[in-house]
Amino acid sequence: MSKKYDVVVIGAGPAGYIAAIRAAQHGFKVACIDEWQNRDGKYAFGGTCLNAGCIPSKAMLESSELYHRANHEFKKHGIVTGEVSLDVGAMQKRRAGIVRQLTGGIGGLFKANKVDGLVGHGKLLAGKKVEFTPVDGDPEILEATHVVLASGSSPIELPFAKFDQETILDSWDALELEAVPKRLGVIGAGVIGLELGSVWARLGSDVIILEALEDFLAMADRDVAATAMKDFKKQGLDIRLGAKVSETSIKDGVVTVSYEDKSGSQTVGFDKLIVAVGRRPYTEKLLADDSGIRTDERGFIVVDEVCRTEVKGVYAIGDCVRGPMLAHKGSEEGVMVADLIAGESAEVNYDIVPSVIYTAPEVAWVGKTEAEVKTSGRAYKTGSFPFAASGRAKAMEQTTGMVKVIAAEDDDELLGVHIVGPMAGELISEAVLALEFAASTEDIQRTIHAHPSLAEAVHEAALAADKRALNYINR
Ligand code: FAD
Ligand code: NAD
Repeated sequence: MSKKYDVVVIGAGPAGYIAAIRAAQHGFKVACIDEWQNRDGKYAFGGTCLNAGCIPSKAMLESSELYHRANHEFKKHGIVTGEVSLDVGAMQKRRAGIVRQLTGGIGGLFKANKVDGLVGHGKLLAGKKVEFTPVDGDPEILEATHVVLASGSSPIELPFAKFDQETILDSWDALELEAVPKRLGVIGAGVIGLELGSVWARLGSDVIILEALEDFLAMADRDVAATAMKDFKKQGLDIRLGAKVSETSIKDGVVTVSYEDKSGSQTVGFDKLIVAVGRRPYTEKLLADDSGIRTDERGFIVVDEVCRTEVKGVYAIGDCVRGPMLAHKGSEEGVMVADLIAGESAEVNYDIVPSVIYTAPEVAWVGKTEAEVKTSGRAYKTGSFPFAASGRAKAMEQTTGMVKVIAAEDDDELLGVHIVGPMAGELISEAVLALEFAASTEDIQRTIHAHPSLAEAVHEAALAADKRALNYINR
C-alpha cells in the first residue's frame, strides 16, 4: 500500500528543507526526500549550500582571512606572535565539523516539525505520485496532494577541462583540498572563482584567475566592481580579463592551460585548476517521462512567477528554476509555495534579492545598479561614503571601499545600494529592508545609526545623495 502525504518535497537543500518545515508548520503531513552523500560516505540533508557551498566556503574564508590577518595585520595592532604557521588538516576538520553540525541540525528540525526526512532518491511520476527509493531498500510509492521539486544545481563542466577530482577541480573539491597548491588556476572570475581564489591565495597559493569577459563582475555596479578589482589585485590575485580558454592538458600532475587574450595565445601551468564557470539546474532522473513537467532549453524546470509548474499541485523552487542561484532566493520560494499550498497569498520580491560576495573586502548589493537606472531613463542622484572616513572601519583596520546609494531625483525613492568593504554582507540588510519598505534616502538620513558603527557609512551615503554628508566633504 502506498503512503499518503499532503506535501512531498524532493530535495533538502535550502529551498526544499525550508519548504518542508514551513508546510509542516501549516499542519500538513510532509515528507522531504534527499540523496546527498558526502565524501566520507555519510548521507546528509542541506544540499549544496550546507555540504559543499555557502557554509563550508564561508568557514574556509574565515579561517584563511584570520591566517592572512595574523601574518599581515597583527603587527599593526601591536600583537607580536612569532612565526604563524598553518595546519590545513585542522582547518579542514573545523570546516567539516561545522557542516556536520548544521546538516545534522536539519534532521533535528525535521523531527521537531514532524517532517519525515527520507534518505534516498525521489522521482516524480504522473498523477503526483513520487517514487522513493531508499538508499538501502526497494522503491515505494508516495501519494501526494502537492509535490515540491527542489533538486538544485550542479557545476558546469567545460569540455576541454573535465573534472578529475585530482588536478581539475569543481568548487566542492576545491573546498576540501588537504594541502595548499603552489600554483592555483581558476577559470571564471565569478562569485565562486573570487571566493575560492581568495581562500587559497591567503593560505599561500599563487592564484591566477582567467575570466572570458572583458568586464569584471559584470552584474555589479561599475564603481563597486572597480574598487573591488583594485583591492583584489593589491592582495596579489592575478585576475586576467578577456581570457578565452581553449585547451587544457595534464602531465606529471601539472595542468597546462591555453588561452587567448588581447595580446595573443598564452599558456600557463598550474598544480591545481578550479573550474568555476557557473552552475546548471540538476534534474537527473527526477522526472518520469509522463510526469508532465517541462524543462526549458537550459534545463530549468518551467514555472510561473509563484513557482507553479504546468502540472496542478506541483511546484518547483530554488536553483532548478529561473532566477539567481542563491540560497536565500530558494528559501524564500520554499516559504512562498508552502504558504500558497496552505491557501494564503504569498510572493517573492525578485527585484529585491541581495547579492553578497564574501571576499575581503566583501561586495554586496541590492536593487538597481547605476547603469540600470541610467538605461531606465529615470533621473537619479547618487551618494557615496568611503570606509576610510569611518571611525569603526579605521578601528578595525579595514578602510577599503565605500557605500554607494542610488535614488530617484524626483521623489527620492531609494533604487539601489552597493557596498564594497568590511561586513558589506551584513550592512546590506538595512538596504534590503529599506527597499522592501520603499524607503527614500531621507528615511535613512533620519534613522539613528549607532556610533561608531560601519552602518554609519550607509547613513552618510544616504546623506551624501543630497550633499549633506556630515563626516565627509560633499562633492
Ligand atoms: P541544493 O542546495 O543544490 O539542494 C538540492 C538537493 O536536492 C541536494 O541535496 C540533492 O542531493 C537533492 N536532490 C536532487 N535531486 C534529487 C532526487 N531526485 N532525489 C533526492 N534528492 C535529490 N548561495 C548563497 O546564497 N550564498 C552563498 O554564500 C553561497 N555560496 C556558495 C558557494 C559555493 C561553493 C557554491 C557551489 C554555491 C554557493 N551558493 C551560495 C549557492 C547555493 O549553494 C545554492 O543557491 C543553493 O544551495 C540552492 O539551493 P537548492 O535547495 O535549490 O539546491
Ligand atoms: P558565476 O556565474 O558567478 O561566474 C562564472 C564566471 O565564469 C563568469 O564571470 C563568466 O563570465 C565566467 N566564464 C564562463 N565561461 C567561461 C570560460 N569558458 N572561460 C572563462 N570564464 C568563463 O558562477 P560561479 O562563480 O560558478 O557560481 C555559480 C553560482 O553559485 C552563481 O549563480 C552564484 O550566485 C552562486 N554562488 C553564490 C555565492 C554567494 O552568494 N556568495 C557564492 C558562490 C556561488
